[in-house]
Amino acid sequence: MPIQSLLDFRDPDVCKRMVIKIGSALLVDNSGRVEVEWLRTIVNEIWTAREMGMDVVVVSSGSIAIGAKQLDFEQGGRRTLAEAQASASVGQIELASVWRQLLAERGLVAAQMLLTLDDFENRRRYLNISATLRRLLRSGVVPVVNENDTIATGEIRFGDNDRLAARVAQACEADGVILLTDVDGLYDKHPDEPDAERLDEVDGVTQEIHDMADGGSSSGLGSGGMTAKLLAAEIAERAGIALAILNGKPENPIARAMAAQAGTLFLPQRDETGRRGWIGGRMRFAGSIKVDDGCVQALRNGKSVLAAGIINAEGDFDRGDIIPVYDIAGNLVAKGLVEYDVSDVEAIMGKQSNEQEAILGHAPRSAVMHRDHLVLM
Ligand code: GLU
Repeated sequence: MPIQSLLDFRDPDVCKRMVIKIGSALLVDNSGRVEVEWLRTIVNEIWTAREMGMDVVVVSSGSIAIGAKQLDFEQGGRRTLAEAQASASVGQIELASVWRQLLAERGLVAAQMLLTLDDFENRRRYLNISATLRRLLRSGVVPVVNENDTIATGEIRFGDNDRLAARVAQACEADGVILLTDVDGLYDKHPDEPDAERLDEVDGVTQEIHDMADGGSSSGLGSGGMTAKLLAAEIAERAGIALAILNGKPENPIARAMAAQAGTLFLPQRDETGRRGWIGGRMRFAGSIKVDDGCVQALRNGKSVLAAGIINAEGDFDRGDIIPVYDIAGNLVAKGLVEYDVSDVEAIMGKQSNEQEAILGHAPRSAVMHRDHLVLM
């Protein structure tokens, strides 16, 4: 049974493993110091969860904010990429040391994992992340994960730890993700507006839900805001993982939010684990294809992508790449493994199977994207 309510996060029979993500605005004060006393209450909550028999993985932001103060950089260290990277290297060593010390006070062993978007996009490296996380958890260790901001650049960055947390949850097959932030959850309009209302539960992230996300982070310290949290929720919901956005500002925030039932819970929608889950969570692509309405309908009925239904191919993808499939209006329909490189797709698109052999010079594959290697979005 997947998590169905906030209280399920405290039931070790339902939530055996959870990821807790802590944003920069909570962890670091305005003078760049770690909020140690507050963090001690979080560590206490982690310890309680461990005592109840749950595994906990932490995703901790804060390195850039801490390092920027030490280096006297403006704009929280985010003025230039080089300054962000330098800030992250200075800040991360302190961040890790605080975690190690506070977890040790409760008899817990900390492990540091610094990961990049590419580590999750590459199947072998993803499996490595997964194996390391599992091994650490089996030994009762608390992994503390952050993006490797010193080397992650531009378009190969997550940039926000929300999606990183969702990908980590997928990699370790967690039951739930808690995003601790500086607001109570998702509001239907900017939370500062007097009639803004918090959503208790979201049963599937829709366009309407995305439209509510302009509220964002009030602090300016982190980089995620609500948009990134919804993208994280989408990754989680497809992987059968519940995700909760809770206000982390008070002490013992998780216990408080659970007791008050205050927060927004995103319910799991599907259960795509393993390789299919990994395909669905992929974020960076070498290209894409566009298909006609008939093909979209066929996909929704569990069929493969045939060349006849393709109307456009873009980018520079190779056979074996995972690429997205868009409909005519540009909506994302699926992601899947493509059986041809882009030039072959361009040559055979719109053609029936019996016409393809003459074009390709060899017998065509059964599909351009086989349904076994494809995930609907
Ligand atoms: N990885 C960044 C840091 O440690 C934080 C990213 C975010 O704000 O979510 O500072």
